[in-house]
Amino acid sequence: MHNPIPYDVVIAGAGPVGLFLACELRLANLSVLVLEQAENPSSALKRLPFGMRGLTVPSIEAFHRRGLLDDIAPPANDGSGDGKLAAAHWMRQPRRPGGHFAGIQFYLDAVDTSQWRYRLPGPAGAGMAVEMECLEIVLAARAVAMGVEIRRGLGVDGFGQSDEDVTIRAGGEIFHASWLVGCDGGRSTVRKLGGFAFTGTDAEFTGYSAEVELADPDTLSPGRHYTPTGMYTYSRPGTIAMVEFDGAAFHRTAAITPEHVQAVLRRVSGADVTVTALHLATTWTDRAYQATAYRNGRVLLAGDAAHIHSPLGGQGLNLGLGDATNLGWKLAATIRGDAPAGLLDSYFDERHPVGAQILDWSRAQVALMRPNRGSRALEAIIRDLIDTRDGATYFAERVWGVTLRYDLGGSHPLVGRSAPDFELADGTRLGERLRSGQGLLLDFDAHPPLRALVNRWGGRISYVAENAKDRLGLSALLVRPDGVVAWAADAEPDLEGSAEAASKWFGERD
Ligand SMILES: Cc1cc2nc3c(=O)[nH]c(=O)nc-3n(C[C@H](O)[C@H](O)[C@H](O)COP(=O)(O)OP(=O)(O)OC[C@H]3O[C@@H](n4cnc5c(N)ncnc54)[C@H](O)[C@@H]3O)c2cc1C
Repeated sequence: MHNPIPYDVVIAGAGPVGLFLACELRLANLSVLVLEQAENPSSALKRLPFGMRGLTVPSIEAFHRRGLLDDIAPPANDGSGDGKLAAAHWMRQPRRPGGHFAGIQFYLDAVDTSQWRYRLPGPAGAGMAVEMECLEIVLAARAVAMGVEIRRGLGVDGFGQSDEDVTIRAGGEIFHASWLVGCDGGRSTVRKLGGFAFTGTDAEFTGYSAEVELADPDTLSPGRHYTPTGMYTYSRPGTIAMVEFDGAAFHRTAAITPEHVQAVLRRVSGADVTVTALHLATTWTDRAYQATAYRNGRVLLAGDAAHIHSPLGGQGLNLGLGDATNLGWKLAATIRGDAPAGLLDSYFDERHPVGAQILDWSRAQVALMRPNRGSRALEAIIRDLIDTRDGATYFAERVWGVTLRYDLGGSHPLVGRSAPDFELADGTRLGERLRSGQGLLLDFDAHPPLRALVNRWGGRISYVAENAKDRLGLSALLVRPDGVVAWAADAEPDLEGSAEAASKWFGERD
Protein backbone atom coordinates (compact mmCIF):
# COMPACT_ATOMS: atom_id res chain seq x y z
CA MET A 1 0.00 0.00 0.00
CA HIS A 2 1.29 3.42 -0.94
CA ASN A 3 0.72 6.26 1.56
CA PRO A 4 0.73 9.45 -0.48
CA ILE A 5 0.96 11.97 2.39
CA PRO A 6 4.60 12.80 3.08
CA TYR A 7 5.69 13.25 6.68
CA ASP A 8 8.38 15.59 7.90
CA VAL A 9 9.88 12.76 9.93
CA VAL A 10 9.33 9.02 10.17
CA ILE A 11 10.78 7.46 13.31
CA ALA A 12 11.47 3.71 13.38
CA GLY A 13 10.82 2.38 16.89
CA ALA A 14 8.37 3.35 19.62
CA GLY A 15 10.79 2.70 22.46
CA PRO A 16 11.41 5.53 24.94
CA VAL A 17 13.89 7.27 22.67
CA GLY A 18 11.68 7.23 19.55
CA LEU A 19 8.65 8.39 21.52
CA PHE A 20 10.44 11.22 23.28
CA LEU A 21 11.98 12.37 20.01
CA ALA A 22 8.53 12.32 18.40
CA CYS A 23 7.25 14.64 21.16
CA GLU A 24 10.20 16.98 20.66
CA LEU A 25 9.51 17.20 16.95
CA ARG A 26 5.78 17.78 17.45
CA LEU A 27 6.62 20.71 19.74
CA ALA A 28 7.87 22.35 16.55
CA ASN A 29 4.64 21.41 14.74
CA LEU A 30 6.23 18.90 12.40
CA SER A 31 4.27 15.95 11.04
CA VAL A 32 5.65 12.82 12.67
CA LEU A 33 4.93 9.14 12.10
CA VAL A 34 6.33 6.47 14.42
CA LEU A 35 6.50 2.94 12.99
CA GLU A 36 6.84 0.23 15.62
CA GLN A 37 7.58 -3.38 14.80
CA ALA A 38 5.87 -4.93 17.82
CA GLU A 39 2.08 -5.28 17.73
CA ASN A 40 1.88 -5.06 21.49
CA PRO A 41 4.17 -2.77 23.46
CA SER A 42 3.50 -4.65 26.69
CA SER A 43 6.15 -7.11 27.91
CA ALA A 44 6.95 -8.73 31.24
CA LEU A 45 10.57 -7.70 30.67
CA LYS A 46 9.49 -4.04 30.79
CA ARG A 47 7.80 -4.51 34.17
CA LEU A 48 9.19 -5.00 37.65
CA PRO A 49 11.62 -6.33 38.58
CA PHE A 50 13.50 -6.44 35.24
CA GLY A 51 11.88 -3.37 33.75
CA MET A 52 13.17 -0.99 36.39
CA ARG A 53 15.39 1.73 34.93
CA GLY A 54 17.34 4.39 36.75
CA LEU A 55 16.97 7.90 35.35
CA THR A 56 19.99 10.15 35.64
CA VAL A 57 19.83 13.89 36.29
CA PRO A 58 19.90 14.98 32.59
CA SER A 59 16.93 12.70 31.80
CA ILE A 60 14.91 13.95 34.76
CA GLU A 61 15.70 17.53 33.79
CA ALA A 62 14.59 16.87 30.21
CA PHE A 63 11.24 15.49 31.44
CA HIS A 64 10.87 18.38 33.88
CA ARG A 65 11.46 20.87 31.06
CA ARG A 66 8.64 19.31 29.06
CA GLY A 67 6.18 18.97 31.93
CA LEU A 68 6.34 15.18 31.90
CA LEU A 69 7.86 14.53 35.29
CA ASP A 70 4.66 14.22 37.30
CA ASP A 71 3.28 11.65 34.87
CA ILE A 72 6.50 9.68 34.84
CA ALA A 73 7.09 9.70 38.61
CA PRO A 74 6.53 5.98 39.05
CA PRO A 75 4.90 3.63 41.53
CA ALA A 76 8.43 3.21 42.90
CA ASN A 77 8.30 6.84 44.02
CA ASP A 78 4.66 7.15 45.00
CA GLY A 79 4.76 4.29 47.41
CA SER A 80 3.05 1.26 45.93
CA GLY A 81 4.07 -2.18 44.72
CA ASP A 82 7.65 -3.47 44.67
CA GLY A 83 8.88 0.05 44.36
CA LYS A 84 7.55 0.77 47.85
CA LEU A 85 9.55 -2.11 49.27
CA ALA A 86 12.68 -0.97 47.51
CA ALA A 87 12.20 2.61 48.66
CA ALA A 88 11.48 1.54 52.24
CA HIS A 89 14.58 -0.67 52.27
CA TRP A 90 16.64 2.23 50.93
CA MET A 91 15.30 4.66 53.54
CA ARG A 92 16.07 2.27 56.40
CA GLN A 93 19.71 1.84 55.53
CA PRO A 94 22.06 3.58 57.94
CA ARG A 95 24.04 4.98 55.00
CA ARG A 96 21.95 5.58 51.90
CA PRO A 97 23.50 4.34 48.69
CA GLY A 98 23.74 6.94 45.92
CA GLY A 99 24.65 4.54 43.14
CA HIS A 100 27.35 2.07 42.24
CA PHE A 101 30.25 1.20 39.99
CA ALA A 102 30.35 -2.51 39.09
CA GLY A 103 28.23 -3.10 42.17
CA ILE A 104 30.53 -1.16 44.52
CA GLN A 105 28.34 1.42 46.20
CA PHE A 106 29.00 5.01 47.03
CA TYR A 107 26.98 6.74 49.72
CA LEU A 108 25.04 9.98 49.62
CA ASP A 109 26.60 11.30 52.82
CA ALA A 110 30.05 11.11 51.24
CA VAL A 111 29.16 13.10 48.12
CA ASP A 112 30.31 16.71 48.23
CA THR A 113 27.69 18.49 46.13
CA SER A 114 29.24 21.88 46.97
CA GLN A 115 31.83 21.07 44.30
CA TRP A 116 29.11 21.52 41.67
CA ARG A 117 29.00 25.27 41.41
CA TYR A 118 26.05 25.55 39.08
CA ARG A 119 23.65 23.02 40.52
CA LEU A 120 20.59 24.08 42.47
CA PRO A 121 18.37 21.74 44.45
CA GLY A 122 15.49 20.88 42.10
CA PRO A 123 13.28 18.09 40.91
CA ALA A 124 16.19 16.14 39.46
CA GLY A 125 17.76 15.32 42.86
CA ALA A 126 20.19 12.47 42.48
CA GLY A 127 18.05 10.25 40.31
CA MET A 128 14.81 8.35 40.07
CA ALA A 129 13.70 4.88 39.07
CA VAL A 130 10.98 4.21 36.52
CA GLU A 131 9.33 1.14 35.13
CA MET A 132 10.05 0.87 31.41
CA GLU A 133 6.47 -0.02 30.52
CA CYS A 134 5.09 2.91 32.49
CA LEU A 135 7.57 5.27 30.85
CA GLU A 136 6.59 4.10 27.37
CA ILE A 137 2.86 4.39 28.16
CA VAL A 138 3.30 7.98 29.39
CA LEU A 139 5.44 8.98 26.42
CA ALA A 140 3.12 7.31 23.89
CA ALA A 141 0.09 9.04 25.42
CA ARG A 142 1.86 12.41 25.31
CA ALA A 143 2.97 11.83 21.73
CA VAL A 144 -0.55 10.91 20.57
CA ALA A 145 -2.06 13.86 22.46
CA MET A 146 0.38 16.13 20.65
CA GLY A 147 -0.61 14.73 17.27
CA VAL A 148 2.05 12.11 16.57
CA GLU A 149 0.78 9.15 14.55
CA ILE A 150 1.96 5.79 15.93
CA ARG A 151 1.49 2.64 13.81
CA ARG A 152 2.23 -0.61 15.63
CA GLY A 153 2.97 -3.96 14.01
CA LEU A 154 4.81 -2.22 11.18
CA GLY A 155 8.58 -2.80 11.31
CA VAL A 156 10.74 -0.81 8.92
CA ASP A 157 12.27 -3.37 6.55
CA GLY A 158 13.67 -1.21 3.79
CA PHE A 159 14.23 2.35 2.66
CA GLY A 160 15.90 4.43 0.00
CA GLN A 161 16.81 8.09 -0.01
CA SER A 162 17.26 10.87 -2.54
CA ASP A 163 18.45 14.46 -2.02
CA GLU A 164 14.85 15.47 -1.28
CA ASP A 165 13.30 12.67 0.74
CA VAL A 166 13.29 9.13 2.08
CA THR A 167 10.99 6.32 0.93
CA ILE A 168 10.35 3.84 3.72
CA ARG A 169 8.98 0.30 3.46
CA ALA A 170 7.29 -1.29 6.45
CA GLY A 171 5.15 -4.44 6.44
CA GLY A 172 4.20 -4.06 2.79
CA GLU A 173 3.35 -0.36 3.07
CA ILE A 174 5.31 2.52 1.61
CA PHE A 175 5.79 5.86 3.40
CA HIS A 176 7.48 9.08 2.35
CA ALA A 177 9.26 11.50 4.66
CA SER A 178 11.81 14.27 4.55
CA TRP A 179 13.84 12.47 7.22
CA LEU A 180 14.04 9.00 8.76
CA VAL A 181 15.34 8.49 12.29
CA GLY A 182 16.29 5.00 13.45
CA CYS A 183 15.34 4.61 17.10
CA ASP A 184 14.87 0.90 16.56
CA GLY A 185 17.11 -0.44 19.30
CA GLY A 186 20.39 -2.31 19.50
CA ARG A 187 19.75 -4.52 16.48
CA SER A 188 18.60 -1.53 14.43
CA THR A 189 17.47 -2.31 10.90
CA VAL A 190 17.87 1.36 9.97
CA ARG A 191 21.51 1.25 11.03
CA LYS A 192 22.20 -1.98 9.17
CA LEU A 193 20.45 -0.94 5.96
CA GLY A 194 21.63 2.66 6.17
CA GLY A 195 25.31 1.91 5.66
CA PHE A 196 26.40 3.01 9.14
CA ALA A 197 29.68 1.52 10.37
CA PHE A 198 29.32 0.05 13.87
CA THR A 199 32.56 -0.57 15.73
CA GLY A 200 33.64 -1.52 19.23
CA THR A 201 34.62 -4.35 21.51
CA ASP A 202 33.16 -7.85 21.63
CA ALA A 203 31.48 -9.50 24.55
CA GLU A 204 33.28 -11.39 27.29
CA PHE A 205 30.28 -12.73 29.14
CA THR A 206 26.65 -13.80 29.02
CA GLY A 207 24.58 -11.92 31.57
CA TYR A 208 21.28 -13.33 32.90
CA SER A 209 18.30 -11.72 34.55
CA ALA A 210 15.95 -14.39 35.88
CA GLU A 211 12.94 -14.79 38.10
CA VAL A 212 13.16 -18.23 39.71
CA GLU A 213 11.85 -20.42 42.51
CA LEU A 214 14.53 -22.15 44.51
CA ALA A 215 14.07 -25.36 46.53
CA ASP A 216 16.59 -24.01 49.02
CA PRO A 217 16.47 -20.20 48.91
CA ASP A 218 18.65 -19.77 52.01
CA THR A 219 21.59 -21.38 50.23
CA LEU A 220 22.27 -18.05 48.52
CA SER A 221 22.96 -14.91 50.48
CA PRO A 222 21.26 -11.75 49.21
CA GLY A 223 23.36 -9.04 47.59
CA ARG A 224 26.04 -8.94 44.93
CA HIS A 225 28.90 -11.43 44.99
CA TYR A 226 32.06 -11.75 42.92
CA THR A 227 33.19 -15.34 42.59
CA PRO A 228 36.05 -17.19 40.86
CA THR A 229 33.78 -17.76 37.86
CA GLY A 230 31.71 -14.61 37.54
CA MET A 231 29.21 -12.57 39.52
CA TYR A 232 25.71 -13.02 40.85
CA THR A 233 23.18 -10.81 42.58
CA TYR A 234 20.38 -12.36 44.53
CA SER A 235 17.36 -10.64 46.02
CA ARG A 236 14.60 -12.55 47.73
CA PRO A 237 12.26 -14.10 46.86
CA GLY A 238 13.85 -15.17 43.56
CA THR A 239 15.30 -12.36 41.46
CA ILE A 240 18.69 -13.23 40.11
CA ALA A 241 21.21 -11.45 37.93
CA MET A 242 24.32 -13.40 36.92
CA VAL A 243 27.34 -12.91 34.76
CA GLU A 244 29.32 -15.86 33.41
CA PHE A 245 32.53 -15.12 31.57
CA ASP A 246 31.89 -17.59 28.74
CA GLY A 247 32.77 -15.27 25.85
CA ALA A 248 29.01 -14.72 25.40
CA ALA A 249 28.82 -18.27 24.02
CA PHE A 250 25.30 -18.87 25.34
CA HIS A 251 23.63 -15.53 24.54
CA ARG A 252 20.85 -16.05 21.97
CA THR A 253 22.14 -19.48 20.94
CA ALA A 254 19.64 -21.65 22.81
CA ALA A 255 16.45 -21.54 24.86
CA ILE A 256 16.91 -20.48 28.50
CA THR A 257 15.72 -23.49 30.46
CA PRO A 258 15.46 -23.96 34.25
CA GLU A 259 18.22 -26.59 33.96
CA HIS A 260 20.53 -24.15 32.23
CA VAL A 261 19.85 -21.36 34.74
CA GLN A 262 20.48 -23.80 37.58
CA ALA A 263 23.76 -24.99 36.03
CA VAL A 264 25.02 -21.41 35.54
CA LEU A 265 23.87 -20.40 39.02
CA ARG A 266 25.73 -23.33 40.53
CA ARG A 267 28.86 -22.48 38.56
CA VAL A 268 28.92 -18.78 39.40
CA SER A 269 27.79 -19.10 43.02
CA GLY A 270 29.61 -22.28 43.88
CA ALA A 271 26.46 -23.24 45.85
CA ASP A 272 24.44 -26.41 45.36
CA VAL A 273 21.15 -24.62 44.61
CA THR A 274 18.13 -26.20 42.92
CA VAL A 275 15.88 -24.23 40.59
CA THR A 276 12.34 -25.62 40.80
CA ALA A 277 10.67 -23.08 38.49
CA LEU A 278 11.75 -20.45 36.01
CA HIS A 279 9.18 -17.69 35.53
CA LEU A 280 11.07 -15.25 33.38
CA ALA A 281 14.57 -15.00 31.97
CA THR A 282 16.57 -12.98 29.51
CA THR A 283 20.22 -12.74 28.58
CA TRP A 284 22.46 -9.82 27.72
CA THR A 285 26.13 -9.24 27.09
CA ASP A 286 28.84 -6.63 27.44
CA ARG A 287 29.29 -6.06 23.71
CA ALA A 288 30.10 -2.34 23.39
CA TYR A 289 29.65 -0.90 19.91
CA GLN A 290 28.95 2.57 18.57
CA ALA A 291 28.06 3.91 15.14
CA THR A 292 30.92 5.95 13.69
CA ALA A 293 28.41 8.46 12.25
CA TYR A 294 24.90 9.29 13.45
CA ARG A 295 23.77 10.68 10.11
CA ASN A 296 23.90 9.47 6.56
CA GLY A 297 22.14 11.94 4.29
CA ARG A 298 18.51 12.11 5.43
CA VAL A 299 18.80 9.19 7.81
CA LEU A 300 19.75 9.61 11.46
CA LEU A 301 20.28 7.30 14.44
CA ALA A 302 19.48 7.80 18.12
CA GLY A 303 19.42 5.65 21.25
CA ASP A 304 20.47 2.00 21.26
CA ALA A 305 20.41 2.08 17.46
CA ALA A 306 23.50 4.30 17.67
CA HIS A 307 25.29 2.62 20.57
CA ILE A 308 25.08 -0.55 22.64
CA HIS A 309 26.81 -1.59 25.85
CA SER A 310 26.13 -3.79 28.83
CA PRO A 311 23.35 -2.69 31.18
CA LEU A 312 25.91 -2.53 34.02
CA GLY A 313 25.55 0.85 35.60
CA GLY A 314 22.22 1.49 33.90
CA GLN A 315 23.09 4.23 31.42
CA GLY A 316 21.66 3.16 28.05
CA LEU A 317 18.19 4.65 28.36
CA ASN A 318 19.61 7.90 29.68
CA LEU A 319 22.12 8.08 26.86
CA GLY A 320 19.34 7.60 24.33
CA LEU A 321 17.06 10.19 25.94
CA GLY A 322 19.99 12.60 25.81
CA ASP A 323 20.32 11.91 22.08
CA ALA A 324 16.63 12.65 21.52
CA THR A 325 16.78 15.85 23.58
CA ASN A 326 19.79 17.03 21.61
CA LEU A 327 18.52 16.02 18.18
CA GLY A 328 14.87 17.10 18.33
CA TRP A 329 15.20 20.90 18.16
CA LYS A 330 18.13 20.73 15.74
CA LEU A 331 16.25 18.55 13.27
CA ALA A 332 13.17 20.74 13.68
CA ALA A 333 15.13 23.92 12.87
CA THR A 334 16.69 22.17 9.88
CA ILE A 335 13.28 21.18 8.53
CA ARG A 336 11.80 24.65 9.21
CA GLY A 337 14.74 26.12 7.30
CA ASP A 338 16.01 28.47 10.00
CA ALA A 339 18.90 26.32 11.28
CA PRO A 340 22.32 27.93 11.22
CA ALA A 341 25.00 26.16 9.21
CA GLY A 342 26.24 23.00 10.86
CA LEU A 343 23.47 22.81 13.49
CA LEU A 344 22.45 19.26 12.58
CA ASP A 345 26.06 18.11 12.49
CA SER A 346 26.51 19.37 16.03
CA TYR A 347 24.20 16.52 17.09
CA PHE A 348 26.94 14.00 16.32
CA ASP A 349 29.74 16.29 17.52
CA GLU A 350 28.09 16.67 20.92
CA ARG A 351 26.55 13.25 21.44
CA HIS A 352 29.16 10.85 20.02
CA PRO A 353 31.78 11.71 22.70
CA VAL A 354 29.15 11.30 25.43
CA GLY A 355 28.28 7.86 24.05
CA ALA A 356 31.94 6.87 23.77
CA GLN A 357 32.48 7.84 27.40
CA ILE A 358 29.52 5.74 28.56
CA LEU A 359 30.78 2.75 26.58
CA ASP A 360 34.15 3.09 28.31
CA TRP A 361 32.40 3.41 31.67
CA SER A 362 30.71 0.06 31.05
CA ARG A 363 33.99 -1.50 29.82
CA ALA A 364 35.77 -0.34 32.97
CA GLN A 365 33.11 -2.09 35.06
CA VAL A 366 33.58 -5.30 33.12
CA ALA A 367 37.33 -5.09 33.71
CA LEU A 368 36.61 -4.94 37.44
CA MET A 369 34.30 -7.95 37.34
CA ARG A 370 36.57 -10.42 35.52
CA PRO A 371 37.15 -13.49 37.65
CA ASN A 372 40.88 -13.07 38.15
CA ARG A 373 43.28 -11.77 40.80
CA GLY A 374 44.05 -8.59 38.91
CA SER A 375 40.41 -7.57 38.92
CA ARG A 376 39.97 -8.40 42.59
CA ALA A 377 43.03 -6.23 43.35
CA LEU A 378 41.52 -3.41 41.28
CA GLU A 379 38.20 -3.88 43.07
CA ALA A 380 39.91 -3.42 46.45
CA ILE A 381 41.43 -0.13 45.25
CA ILE A 382 38.09 1.15 43.91
CA ARG A 383 36.41 0.22 47.19
CA ASP A 384 38.93 2.36 49.07
CA LEU A 385 38.61 5.29 46.66
CA ILE A 386 34.83 5.27 46.44
CA ASP A 387 34.66 5.65 50.20
CA THR A 388 36.58 8.94 50.19
CA ARG A 389 34.82 12.28 49.77
CA ASP A 390 36.48 13.06 46.45
CA GLY A 391 36.01 9.48 45.28
CA ALA A 392 32.29 9.38 46.11
CA THR A 393 31.86 12.81 44.48
CA TYR A 394 33.65 11.65 41.33
CA PHE A 395 31.51 8.52 41.00
CA ALA A 396 28.33 10.49 41.72
CA GLU A 397 29.25 12.97 38.98
CA ARG A 398 29.67 10.18 36.47
CA VAL A 399 26.73 8.01 37.56
CA TRP A 400 24.24 10.87 37.98
CA GLY A 401 25.47 12.72 34.91
CA VAL A 402 25.61 16.05 36.73
CA THR A 403 28.81 17.30 35.16
CA LEU A 404 27.84 16.65 31.55
CA ARG A 405 29.28 19.49 29.48
CA TYR A 406 29.36 19.95 25.72
CA ASP A 407 32.33 21.70 24.20
CA LEU A 408 30.55 24.74 22.75
CA GLY A 409 33.47 27.14 22.94
CA GLY A 410 32.95 30.31 25.01
CA SER A 411 34.85 31.16 28.14
CA HIS A 412 32.10 31.16 30.77
CA PRO A 413 32.22 27.97 32.88
CA LEU A 414 28.44 27.48 32.56
CA VAL A 415 28.43 27.38 28.75
CA GLY A 416 27.78 23.84 27.50
CA ARG A 417 26.25 22.73 30.81
CA SER A 418 22.65 22.18 31.80
CA ALA A 419 20.97 25.41 32.91
CA PRO A 420 20.40 25.52 36.68
CA ASP A 421 16.73 25.20 37.54
CA PHE A 422 16.44 28.73 38.93
CA GLU A 423 13.53 29.49 41.20
CA LEU A 424 12.24 32.74 39.70
CA ALA A 425 10.70 35.67 41.54
CA ASP A 426 7.26 34.93 40.05
CA GLY A 427 7.29 31.49 41.66
CA THR A 428 8.01 29.50 38.50
CA ARG A 429 11.17 27.53 37.83
CA LEU A 430 13.31 27.91 34.75
CA GLY A 431 12.48 24.36 33.66
CA GLU A 432 8.78 25.23 33.42
CA ARG A 433 9.58 28.21 31.21
CA LEU A 434 11.23 25.90 28.66
CA ARG A 435 8.11 23.85 27.91
CA SER A 436 7.43 25.43 24.54
CA GLY A 437 10.70 24.03 23.17
CA GLN A 438 11.99 27.49 22.23
CA GLY A 439 15.32 28.93 23.25
CA LEU A 440 15.15 31.32 26.20
CA LEU A 441 17.08 34.34 27.36
CA LEU A 442 16.85 34.72 31.11
CA ASP A 443 17.72 38.27 32.12
CA PHE A 444 17.83 38.71 35.90
CA ASP A 445 18.29 42.50 35.69
CA ALA A 446 15.93 43.24 32.78
CA HIS A 447 18.53 44.93 30.55
CA PRO A 448 16.59 46.73 27.76
CA PRO A 449 19.33 46.07 25.14
CA LEU A 450 19.06 42.33 25.77
CA ARG A 451 15.30 42.41 25.28
CA ALA A 452 15.76 44.33 22.03
CA LEU A 453 18.36 41.83 20.88
CA VAL A 454 16.18 38.79 21.54
CA ASN A 455 13.24 40.34 19.73
CA ARG A 456 15.27 40.11 16.55
CA TRP A 457 15.03 36.31 16.72
CA GLY A 458 11.25 36.45 16.74
CA GLY A 459 9.58 33.29 17.99
CA ARG A 460 12.78 31.29 18.18
CA ILE A 461 13.97 32.72 21.51
CA SER A 462 11.67 33.79 24.30
CA TYR A 463 12.72 36.51 26.73
CA VAL A 464 12.22 36.24 30.49
CA ALA A 465 13.13 39.22 32.68
CA GLU A 466 12.77 37.88 36.19
CA ASN A 467 14.98 37.84 39.22
CA ALA A 468 15.74 34.53 40.97
CA LYS A 469 15.99 33.43 44.56
CA ASP A 470 19.59 32.37 44.00
CA ARG A 471 21.21 33.73 40.83
CA LEU A 472 24.47 31.86 41.38
CA GLY A 473 26.35 35.05 40.61
CA LEU A 474 24.88 35.40 37.11
CA SER A 475 23.21 38.38 35.46
CA ALA A 476 21.86 36.74 32.28
CA LEU A 477 22.03 33.49 30.28
CA LEU A 478 20.89 32.17 26.92
CA VAL A 479 19.48 28.66 27.06
CA ARG A 480 19.02 26.33 24.07
CA PRO A 481 15.74 24.43 23.69
CA ASP A 482 17.47 21.35 25.15
CA GLY A 483 18.27 23.25 28.35
CA VAL A 484 21.97 23.68 27.57
CA VAL A 485 23.50 27.09 28.29
CA ALA A 486 24.75 28.76 25.10
CA TRP A 487 25.94 32.02 26.66
CA ALA A 488 26.14 33.46 30.16
CA ALA A 489 27.23 36.68 31.83
CA ASP A 490 28.13 37.35 35.43
CA ALA A 491 28.01 41.14 35.32
CA GLU A 492 27.09 43.66 32.63
CA PRO A 493 26.08 41.50 29.62
CA ASP A 494 28.36 41.57 26.61
CA LEU A 495 25.88 42.28 23.82
CA GLU A 496 28.20 41.20 21.06
CA GLY A 497 28.80 37.86 22.76
CA SER A 498 25.11 37.22 23.31
CA ALA A 499 24.25 38.12 19.70
CA GLU A 500 27.02 35.82 18.46
CA ALA A 501 25.70 32.92 20.56
CA ALA A 502 22.12 33.58 19.41
CA SER A 503 23.22 33.48 15.75
CA LYS A 504 25.31 30.37 16.31
CA TRP A 505 22.38 28.36 17.70
CA PHE A 506 19.28 30.05 16.31
CA GLY A 507 20.41 31.22 12.87
CA GLU A 508 20.13 34.57 11.25
CA ARG A 509 18.08 37.24 13.02
CA ASP A 510 14.77 38.24 11.44
C1 LIG B 1 18.50 -5.86 31.83
C2 LIG B 1 18.63 -4.42 31.39
C3 LIG B 1 18.66 -3.40 32.37
C4 LIG B 1 18.80 -2.07 31.97
N1 LIG B 1 18.82 -1.09 32.93
C5 LIG B 1 18.96 0.21 32.56
C6 LIG B 1 18.94 1.27 33.52
O1 LIG B 1 18.78 1.07 34.73
N2 LIG B 1 19.12 2.54 33.08
C7 LIG B 1 19.30 2.83 31.75
O2 LIG B 1 19.48 4.01 31.40
N3 LIG B 1 19.27 1.86 30.81
C8 LIG B 1 19.11 0.57 31.17
N4 LIG B 1 19.07 -0.41 30.23
C9 LIG B 1 19.18 -0.03 28.80
C10 LIG B 1 17.87 0.53 28.25
O3 LIG B 1 16.80 -0.35 28.46
C11 LIG B 1 18.02 0.81 26.75
O4 LIG B 1 19.20 1.53 26.52
C12 LIG B 1 16.82 1.60 26.23
O5 LIG B 1 15.66 0.78 26.27
C13 LIG B 1 17.05 2.08 24.79
O6 LIG B 1 15.90 2.71 24.30
P1 LIG B 1 15.63 2.78 22.73
O7 LIG B 1 14.32 3.47 22.58
O8 LIG B 1 16.84 3.33 22.06
O9 LIG B 1 15.54 1.28 22.25
P2 LIG B 1 14.48 0.16 22.67
O10 LIG B 1 13.99 0.37 24.04
O11 LIG B 1 15.16 -1.13 22.35
O12 LIG B 1 13.28 0.41 21.66
C14 LIG B 1 13.42 0.15 20.30
C15 LIG B 1 12.06 -0.10 19.72
O13 LIG B 1 12.19 -0.29 18.30
C16 LIG B 1 11.37 -1.37 17.89
N5 LIG B 1 11.93 -1.89 16.63
C17 LIG B 1 12.94 -2.75 16.45
N6 LIG B 1 13.17 -2.93 15.15
C18 LIG B 1 12.29 -2.15 14.48
C19 LIG B 1 12.05 -1.89 13.11
N7 LIG B 1 12.77 -2.47 12.15
N8 LIG B 1 11.07 -1.02 12.78
C20 LIG B 1 10.31 -0.41 13.73
N9 LIG B 1 10.49 -0.65 15.06
C21 LIG B 1 11.50 -1.50 15.43
C22 LIG B 1 11.41 -2.32 19.06
O14 LIG B 1 10.28 -3.19 19.05
C23 LIG B 1 11.38 -1.35 20.24
O15 LIG B 1 10.06 -1.04 20.62
C24 LIG B 1 18.92 -1.75 30.58
C25 LIG B 1 18.87 -2.77 29.63
C26 LIG B 1 18.73 -4.08 30.02
C27 LIG B 1 18.70 -5.15 28.97
